[in-house]
Amino acid sequence: MTSECLFCRIAAGEIPAEVVRETPTTLAFRDIDPKAPSHVLVIPRTHHPDVAALAAADPGLAGEVLATAAAVARAEGLAGPGFRLIFNTGAHGGQEVPHVHAHVLGGAPLGPMLA
Ligand code: IMP
Repeated sequence: MTSECLFCRIAAGEIPAEVVRETPTTLAFRDIDPKAPSHVLVIPRTHHPDVAALAAADPGLAGEVLATAAAVARAEGLAGPGFRLIFNTGAHGGQEVPHVHAHVLGGAPLGPMLA
């Protein structure tokens, strides 16, 4: 936990969030500025800056983040119609919050990503 990290503070309950799923190691909460009808962020509770760092440091935890993202997609009704799972990574990847998070997006056709 780093006291300056926004998502560490959400994981610690210091900043409110609309939590949709919790496990002992992960937390899923609604994005404050949704880009799709359903937009949920999934984080590990422990601090890792991005998905590459997480995969290197703790691949099991990376798998738990994916499992929580899949469970969120099912719970949001996205598993049948489909959804998008994104890890923005680093400056060129458009990552703004340096605590690894998966975006689960769906609820409408999102179109081709690289159109
Ligand atoms: P990134 O660009 O991949 O780092 O995505 C960061 C996401 O965090 C953006 O979609 C923001 O809307 C979202 N966000 C920023 N602050 C909060 C918050 O306090 N609660 C929930 N989502 C947030």
